[in-house]
Amino acid sequence: MRSLEELLNESSASHGHRCAGQVLGVRLAMAGCREVGIDEPKGCKKLVVLVEIDRCATDAIQAVTGCSLGKRTLKFLDYGKMAATFVNTETQRAVRVLAKDDARELARLYAPGAATPGEAQKQAYAAIPEELLFSIQPARINIAEENMPGFRGVRVNCASCREGINLRREVRVDGRILCIPCAQRSLGSNGASGDRPKVILIVGYKKVGKTTLIERLVPELSNRGYRVGTVKHHHSEFPVVVDSVGTDTWRHRRAGASGVALVTPTDFALFRDTPGGASLEEVVAALHGTDIVLAEGFHQAPGLKIEVLSVGSAQRRCAGDPQLLATVGPATGDASVASFEPDAIKPLADLIEREVLGKPGFPGVTKNSKFEIPSVSQLPVGHP
Ligand SMILES: [Zn+2]
Ligand SMILES: [Zn+2]
Repeated sequence: MRSLEELLNESSASHGHRCAGQVLGVRLAMAGCREVGIDEPKGCKKLVVLVEIDRCATDAIQAVTGCSLGKRTLKFLDYGKMAATFVNTETQRAVRVLAKDDARELARLYAPGAATPGEAQKQAYAAIPEELLFSIQPARINIAEENMPGFRGVRVNCASCREGINLRREVRVDGRILCIPCAQRSLGSNGASGDRPKVILIVGYKKVGKTTLIERLVPELSNRGYRVGTVKHHHSEFPVVVDSVGTDTWRHRRAGASGVALVTPTDFALFRDTPGGASLEEVVAALHGTDIVLAEGFHQAPGLKIEVLSVGSAQRRCAGDPQLLATVGPATGDASVASFEPDAIKPLADLIEREVLGKPGFPGVTKNSKFEIPSVSQLPVGHP
């Protein structure tokens, strides 16, 4: 292994400046390579490095090891941690090198005369003994075949955006082959489950026509082929009697069951104790299998909303809510939120299809969705 000074000159030249991150990164890379038994990493084809942060030190690790994204020998795990794992793919030996948290504090001790904290770190990181600077732990890394340098896989096309996908990055959702961004969109922004329907909260003051709007939207969306679920938030303090006195389910419940399910050849009803009230999440989870849920009430819950406005009053519950998709009722004069007449059900359903359900042929980007990088769990790379 070449000297710290020599490697530092080289990494600073390619990084563009000599900073504390260069010193830390060079030392981190020197330690990692040594621990996995690679003395001269440059040009050696058996080293793969998984970095956990994209900062100055990452460039230094790249400069010392010669590993790069393009060669597929550098993997980026977006954890925001000053750490990197070095894998010798020949011997399978792997170590994770983590910069210790107190290294910054130590810097003041090791470079007391430095003019700035940055300068102190730059000087100190070269002098602090390795065991004070880093924690080095053996790691078990299983690099999937498709993540190895030199892997060639079959290129496929995304069924939604039609773009080509390489390196087995396609995912299957309900039998369709999708790219990761399209799959995330189809799974909803939380990416939790393909079953989770989209949710729109229908909000507004009492007696403005929320139920009427739902009554009209349900057939309109159903006719367009969507399975629609609804939720009614009842504010009554008194228990709502749905399973009436004397029925078998009532007797089950009176006997102390905390949940009772009633199953008939065509329906399924569930009565459950929920002290404090069920969360919208729980209720929506129970409506899996639907494409969209229209929930009446819940104006304080996060989520896309349509507010029904009163004809006689200018009061608004959700003015300025960034998740307000549209208003229904008198025009608000607010150009940033679409406004619909109470009878304009078809145009409102068009908006829902386009912005919420991501109808093919439309951009399919909801008001609140953003293009997200795949989470690390979707990257088939093991982690210690
Ligand atoms: Zn830098
Ligand atoms: Zn796609």
